[in-house]
Amino acid sequence: MSSSSSHPDLILTNARITSMSSSPLPSNSDAIAVTHGRVSSIGPTSAIATLAGPSTKRIDARGRSVVPGLVDAHNHGVKACLARLYACSFTFSASPQDIEAALEGFFERNSGVECVMGGRYGSEFFKTYAGQLLPTPREWLDARSRGRAVYLREESGHNGWANSRALELVGITRESVDPKGGRIGRTDAGELTGVLIEDADVQARLRWPDWTAAQYEDAVREYVKVANGFGIVGSTDADANEGILKALSEVDREGGLSLHVVAAQTTPYGHREEPLDYGLHERWRELYTSDHVDASFVKIYLDGVARDDSRTAFLLEQYLPDPRFPESHRSHAHVPAETLARDYVELDRRGFTVKTHCCGDGSVRATLDAIQAAREANPARSEIELLRHEVAHCMLVSASDIPRFRRLNAVAELSPYLWSGESCVSHRRACLGSERVERWYPVKELLDAGTELAAGSDWPAAVASVNPWPGLASLVTRTDTSDPSSAPIGLDQAVSIEDALRIFTVQGARAIKRGKDTGSIEVGKSADFVVLDRDVMEVDPRMVGATKVDVTVFEGRIVYEREGAN
Ligand SMILES: [Zn+2]
Repeated sequence: MSSSSSHPDLILTNARITSMSSSPLPSNSDAIAVTHGRVSSIGPTSAIATLAGPSTKRIDARGRSVVPGLVDAHNHGVKACLARLYACSFTFSASPQDIEAALEGFFERNSGVECVMGGRYGSEFFKTYAGQLLPTPREWLDARSRGRAVYLREESGHNGWANSRALELVGITRESVDPKGGRIGRTDAGELTGVLIEDADVQARLRWPDWTAAQYEDAVREYVKVANGFGIVGSTDADANEGILKALSEVDREGGLSLHVVAAQTTPYGHREEPLDYGLHERWRELYTSDHVDASFVKIYLDGVARDDSRTAFLLEQYLPDPRFPESHRSHAHVPAETLARDYVELDRRGFTVKTHCCGDGSVRATLDAIQAAREANPARSEIELLRHEVAHCMLVSASDIPRFRRLNAVAELSPYLWSGESCVSHRRACLGSERVERWYPVKELLDAGTELAAGSDWPAAVASVNPWPGLASLVTRTDTSDPSSAPIGLDQAVSIEDALRIFTVQGARAIKRGKDTGSIEVGKSADFVVLDRDVMEVDPRMVGATKVDVTVFEGRIVYEREGAN
């Protein structure tokens, strides 16, 4: 032991504490003492201050609000940081000229890189700039690639844009057949346009050269820094390949992971009849679980997205009619029901929590059916070891499926950030119709039915930042809080600020299986809390989205301090 002192390592005083604990704090509690990474005492500043010894670190909150650290239950933060550090980055709103400039800058800084990954262009990009990307988007890109292979990703993460060398590298030619669930873009004359939709994009990425171990580890360190800066103390990587798993546990072993991380192991994307490789997932869990990395989750993609031009979310009722799609189109699940049920039964039996991407209400129902199969096949689990399987996104949920979440002890994992970005909303309206959009993310109905909830940013898919505060605010306002003119969508699904904060703290912590350890400020729990620049419980909910984190404390250590805030 480093010290036999009975003094706390850290005290935080003069705070307005929102503990999110189910038991109320002692009256006048405005201070917290932390010993060996855990909250050791909560009480009035006058009492807590007397506990401090000569080596106790002090934070004077000066009346500011302190809440538990937040949990982002769904993101792709390591991949986002790989892109930030090692790819050619530009914003969703980039024009062809912006992309050209970004490529120029990238080539200047990275003269030796032969295969360039980049992104992300907006989902309306090809519609908006069709007249400029001539003769085809592929050739337009060729002319600006200095002979390198260039592959750019789209905002949603489901489509991509390749130049000729990139197509060559991944083996796509004029003769290539469209993969099931995907499309290789071609002109009327059969020339490749370079645009790869859904499974064609997946296949291209699978054949693309992987990042190095050192790059993965740098990306993990970068992700931790970014997440802590927004007050995030726990998160789920919603599609962890072996590179990510290895880097997470490596950085954890060297002491660099100031986050409780769940790594949901990746599985093959797209159409699949055969069961998963359960042995592989057990090996990865064995190899890559560490103090702060829980590798006992598996991610399945059951459908795609509800976008006007791809319509791959699996719906119970058909999409709005559109000549580009078959009559009564409602898409389909990637995995047939029998296979999915078998995966759930086997993974549940082996102690894995399954997180399944479900954009459409058809996928939600299919996933609940599979969870039900697991509950029936493995009934012996007690409440303590019960695995709360997660239905990810829950954009559309049939009213008749809502009570099933509670009955099956399934988590509805929400993506409230998707209000931001007008193109996203207009895409949904164009293919689903306003009635379905008004009831999307039925948070209030789920909450009233006693559902376990969690929320995730899905960064960098569709949102430009992992910042949780706009997402939290939008659960209350049902608007894009970055845009004051944004109209609310389905206001009757709004929840209170307290419920929203609970979803991002206590409930998020339960979803990542750290409910006993974090998610609320309580004696004995890990000292994971944040000092904020405003009291989110008091301010106008429209101001919550702009909340700034002044200090983040993880396991009693200050892991982030905003410059000039203290
Ligand atoms: Zn995702």
